[in-house]
Amino acid sequence: MSLGGRRIVIVGDSIAGCTAARELRARGHNGALTMIGADADGCYARPPLSKHVLKGEGAEAETWDLSDLDVTTVADRAVSVDTDRRTVTTTDGTDVPYDALIVATGASARRIAGPNQLGENVLRTFADVRSLRSKLDSARTAIVVGAGFLGMEVASACVARGIEVTVVDVDPPLQRLLGSFLSDAIAARAQDSSIQFVRADGPVALTGDPVAGIELHDRTRTADLVVTCAGDVPETDWLDGTGIADSHGVGIDELCTTTVPDVYAAGDVTYSRGTSARAPFWSNAVAQGKVAAASALGLEPTCPPTDDYFWTEILGLSIKVVGPLPLRGEPTILEGSMDEGSALLQWNHDDGRTTIVAFGIKKPVGLLRRLARDSSVSTKQGI
Ligand SMILES: Cc1cc2nc3c(=O)[nH]c(=O)nc-3n(C[C@H](O)[C@H](O)[C@H](O)COP(=O)(O)OP(=O)(O)OC[C@H]3O[C@@H](n4cnc5c(N)ncnc54)[C@H](O)[C@@H]3O)c2cc1C
Repeated sequence: MSLGGRRIVIVGDSIAGCTAARELRARGHNGALTMIGADADGCYARPPLSKHVLKGEGAEAETWDLSDLDVTTVADRAVSVDTDRRTVTTTDGTDVPYDALIVATGASARRIAGPNQLGENVLRTFADVRSLRSKLDSARTAIVVGAGFLGMEVASACVARGIEVTVVDVDPPLQRLLGSFLSDAIAARAQDSSIQFVRADGPVALTGDPVAGIELHDRTRTADLVVTCAGDVPETDWLDGTGIADSHGVGIDELCTTTVPDVYAAGDVTYSRGTSARAPFWSNAVAQGKVAAASALGLEPTCPPTDDYFWTEILGLSIKVVGPLPLRGEPTILEGSMDEGSALLQWNHDDGRTTIVAFGIKKPVGLLRRLARDSSVSTKQGI
C-alpha cells in the first residue's frame, strides 16, 4: 500500500498526539488521518495549568488549532483495540479501522483515596483546574500530598492566594529528581513563604468522606482543601489483552515502535524498553510524537526519541533543566549566586554527560542546550 493510502489513527489528542499529527502531514502523509480524544475540553497544553491558569481567575487553557491538517476528529474514548482486525473501538461502539496506530493516551493522576472515598482533588486536566480554582476561592488552609514539581506548583498557587499550606512527602521537595543542593534551596525559599513541610515516614492516607484531611504519624490533620500530587499512571486500560502495554505502560524502542506490528507510541503513556524508565515530560512527548509519526510512515526520524529539557516554576522562581536527572552532589556555579536566588549551574555526571540548570536566572533554552552539549563533549574528551 502506498504511504498516502495508509489509514493512520492516533489515540490521544494532547501534545504527543497533536505533534504526531502535524509531523505526519509535514512528512508527506496525505492519506486518512483520524485522531480520537476523550477530553471534553479538546487539545490543550498541561504545563500552564498548574502555573498561571491555576492562579488566574478565569484564565483559559492554551489550545491548539489543527484545522489546517485535514484530520478527522473523534471526540470519544477508545475502549479497546483488535490488533488482528486492526480496529479501535470507542465508547459508542464505533470501530475505527487503521493500517498504523499511534498510542498517545498519556497518563492520569495517581489517586490515593480508598475505593469508595469521594472528593479527592488531583490536577491533570483543565476540568481539574476549574474545580480546584473554585475551591481555592474559599479555602484558608490547604494540604498538598507530594513535594514533586506538581505539588510545589500547587503549593505556590496556594501561597499566591494567601492560603496557609502544608506540603507532605517522604522526601524533601523535588529531592528525588533535583538532588539535595537544589532541594535545600527550594525548601529555604518555601519556608520564607510560610509553606510548612512535613516529612511522612510512609504512604499518606486520606481521611474523611468526602476527603478532608490526612492521617500521618498516628494523627489526623485537616484542611479546607487537600490536593493529591502523587505522580501519574499511564492510560492503558483500553489496551488490555492486546500485548501492547504492560504494568509499566507501553514499552517503546528508539523508533517508538511497540512489540505489536504497526503500533507505535509516544508521550507519557510510554516507557523505554531499553532502560525500563518513564520520562513523563513535555519535551519527550514532543520528540516521541515526531519519531512515532516518522516510523508509522517508514521514514527516518528527524530527531532522537528523548529530549531532556524540563522546566518548572516555584514561588515565582523559574527553574530550567537541560541534561540527565537525577542530580547528585554540588554543582559548579557558572554565573550568579544561590544567595541571590539567581544562578547558572553545571553538574558533571560520571558518564561524561552534563546537566545545566538555570535557577531563577533568565537564559534561553537554546543556550542551556548548547552549554550542556559542549560541556558534555569537553568532559568526555578530558579537556
Ligand atoms: C498540571 C501539569 C503541569 C505540567 N507541567 C510541566 C512542566 O512544567 N514541564 C514539563 O516538562 N512537563 C510538565 N508536565 C508534563 C507534561 O504536560 C506531559 O509530559 C505531557 O502533557 C504529556 O503529553 P501526552 O500527550 O503524552 O499525554 P497527556 O497530556 O496525558 O494527554 C493524553 C490525552 O489522551 C487522552 N486519552 C486518554 N485515554 C484515552 C482514551 N482511551 N481514548 C481517547 N483519548 C484518551 C486524554 O484525554 C489526554 O487528552 C505537566 C503535567 C501536568 C498535568
